[in-house]
Amino acid sequence: THGNQTLYTLLKKQAGRYGEKPFVVFEEETISYREMLERVNRTARWLKGNGIQKGDMVAVFLANAPVFYEMWYACGALGAVLLPINTASTPSELEYFLDHSESRGFLYDERLVGEEHLEVARERDLVFMQLTGDSFNKEREEHSADEVKCEADASDVACIMYTSGTTAKPKGVLITHENYMFAGHSSVLYQQLTPDDRYLIFLPLFHANSQYYTSMASLVVGGTIILRERFSSTEFWDVVERYQPTVTSLVATVIKMLLELPENEKEKKHSLKRAGYGLFVPYPELQAFQDRFDIKLYQWYGMTETMTTNIVTPLYEDMIRDRETGIVSIGKPGLGHEVKIIGPDDEEMPFGEVGQILIKSPSLMKGYFKNPEATAQTLRDGWLYTGDSGYMNEEGFIWFVDRSKDLIKRAGENISSIEVENVLSEHPAVQDCAIVGEPDKLREEIVIAYVKLHQGQEVEPEELETFCRKHLSYFKVPQEFRIIEDFPRTSIGKIQKNLLRKS
Ligand code: ATP
Ligand code: MG
Repeated sequence: THGNQTLYTLLKKQAGRYGEKPFVVFEEETISYREMLERVNRTARWLKGNGIQKGDMVAVFLANAPVFYEMWYACGALGAVLLPINTASTPSELEYFLDHSESRGFLYDERLVGEEHLEVARERDLVFMQLTGDSFNKEREEHSADEVKCEADASDVACIMYTSGTTAKPKGVLITHENYMFAGHSSVLYQQLTPDDRYLIFLPLFHANSQYYTSMASLVVGGTIILRERFSSTEFWDVVERYQPTVTSLVATVIKMLLELPENEKEKKHSLKRAGYGLFVPYPELQAFQDRFDIKLYQWYGMTETMTTNIVTPLYEDMIRDRETGIVSIGKPGLGHEVKIIGPDDEEMPFGEVGQILIKSPSLMKGYFKNPEATAQTLRDGWLYTGDSGYMNEEGFIWFVDRSKDLIKRAGENISSIEVENVLSEHPAVQDCAIVGEPDKLREEIVIAYVKLHQGQEVEPEELETFCRKHLSYFKVPQEFRIIEDFPRTSIGKIQKNLLRKS
């Protein structure tokens, strides 16, 4: 157990242990553990002086920058609740987040918000302040850097994190200090991190990925975070050379983009040793990535609601593939996590058979904020119903088949969109693809392929169809191939299939 540790008391402990060691490096700035604690102390006093109290929701609209960590831990110290807002949010989405969460504060980076965002804030009874620029720095410096009294308990909510909204309106997931502690410790374990590790983070800090598995892990182990505002494929190897990270967190699009870069000298000898990644990536790409860059990849599976990755490929194992489809397993349950696969009547499925993935772990959310129906549906008898389909083999390896909502129901058959994508993506002209079901009078649903081609490539739909027919049973072969320029994506690069279906 992690005792009664909270975000703030953990930071304090680490500042005592690691003092002058860099906590985060961002552009030209290096902030030590001691300095981060001092900044957090000042910021907590500044927040309090501006009327933020224990239990208040504090919305932040921030790009990746050290001030994000300051806000996170300063709110933690006050027992206030951080609400990280997706910076792509429109004014009306901002309105939804502020109202649904009943936010008391709204702190923003002026480069990211427009006049209409501010209008939304003005209309409400809010403490709202700009967090960037000289005035904030000056105001903060006027407050003492002495330690503050931690007003939070481990069981208090520290953050409200909205889900990505890939399938429905984002739901607010309540995260406690304890949840963060478990997420951090388990992430350190399965990534085998040490205090010497330098974690390169370029995915947005307002997303679960960058909070649970990477930032928390680095704080818990006493490592150093190399923070970037965003991912840039052309700058990637320069960043690696300059900051010498040892580990990073990737998503499918990033793996693709790095593979598309022309070969360069810097990729041949570098400091990066391993990288976690989420979401489905076809095996040939994974292998090409590992071989070319000599970086060990491990897949993780998790969701905002489970606070961390619950299923991971053990670092010491090679990728395990399904004999029939060639799809790579998402791994085994991590230490302290239980997984079971159930059928429609909650019965456990035999090995190899597809059912819903259920998770039990100390990091499960307490519930969705102000949504008792969704909470009751999702959390039952201590198990979290993920809404994802998968299967398990005799050795405990698990495969992700599809989101239940994305499974295509065609004339009595369930078709995994990922299985079709796995085949189609191997066609040399295809750069990326997404398979969705579309309503059909006769067959309930039909299979539709959206395809993005490699630059300068052309291909007839018939050729793609013939290619699919070679590798898939007839009923899984898409009925139509729609060539598109690009996919609608979430902040971390997930294809938004709900938007594709509507287009
Ligand atoms: P919303 O719930 O609002 O529709 P979302 O489910 O995309 O959005 P997240 O919590 O960020 O929001 O994503 C979790 C989901 O991502 C999982 O339920 C699963 O469907 C998918 N996922 C996570 N890890 C993997 C993986 N390794 N392979 C495939 N899919 C994954
Ligand atoms: Mg979800």
